[in-house]
Amino acid sequence: MISPNTPNENQPLADLEEWENDLLRRYPEPASATQESEFTDASKKQAEFRNYDAEARDSVKEFYRLNHRYQTVDFVKRKHEEYLSLQRGKKSIWAGLEYLNTLVDDSDPDTDLSQIVHLLQTSEAIRADGHPRWFILAGLIHDLGKVLCLYGEPQWAVVGDTFPVGCKFSDKIVYPEFFADNPDSRVSEYQTELGIYEEGCGFSNIMMSWGHDEYVYQVTKEYLPMEAQYMLRFHSFYPAHREQQYQYLMDNQDREFFKWVNVFNEYDLYTKSDESPNVEELRPFYDDLISEFFPDAIAF
Ligand code: FE
Ligand code: FE
Repeated sequence: MISPNTPNENQPLADLEEWENDLLRRYPEPASATQESEFTDASKKQAEFRNYDAEARDSVKEFYRLNHRYQTVDFVKRKHEEYLSLQRGKKSIWAGLEYLNTLVDDSDPDTDLSQIVHLLQTSEAIRADGHPRWFILAGLIHDLGKVLCLYGEPQWAVVGDTFPVGCKFSDKIVYPEFFADNPDSRVSEYQTELGIYEEGCGFSNIMMSWGHDEYVYQVTKEYLPMEAQYMLRFHSFYPAHREQQYQYLMDNQDREFFKWVNVFNEYDLYTKSDESPNVEELRPFYDDLISEFFPDAIAF
């Protein structure tokens, strides 16, 4: 019998954290720290990438192989049908967080990297920098979509860098060679630069590979300002926010709001620490914050 925590064919990562740790290896610095030296960066980046490939763990590589193989237009459409009518019951935001927290990481008994800890570390860093309340809230809930794992979705349909399906896969997506196994690679309609889309149609009108970003966005969108919606929906869209790909699909709204995704990424990726926030102490602040934007229960 295969336990959910045993690496197996469909679940190569020891835990979801492994993907994020690998992101840190790939992007050791925030975008803002590397932007000034774009000119000298091209060759450095190439060298770094070779290095990345050499050091990537087999489990991470296998994870991307599955992700790139199975994220197709048809798959994403099926997941939209399955999840986006939000028929999985009503819950409060905090109950959602506690449910997410049942996704325990048995592989690493030394650090308590529970889901709520990562979320509170992110939101507390945002709060410490004096950002608006909706921004703090976005930090608190941004990974709530990982409950998809608890609904039985495989790792490759929950985490991983996201990318548009239905048009050419950018070769700046990590491990682009694995797209050769994706059946959409053989659908000529999907393999032009624009594919099934129109130039400038906007990121809101394209289908992204399925994962925790799209789900948390759909669950929370009606309650949050546009900036927060962008942060939630595209926080794993590294091909766009770190590699500047797919700009030809952007519309004016994206050009106005997508920059918030980068601002958010600094907190998501670079605020991990061993210091555990005191959940009970912080709870009253977050209860207030949640009730400022959300009703008592929302549909998942
Ligand atoms: Fe995330
Ligand atoms: Fe996160």
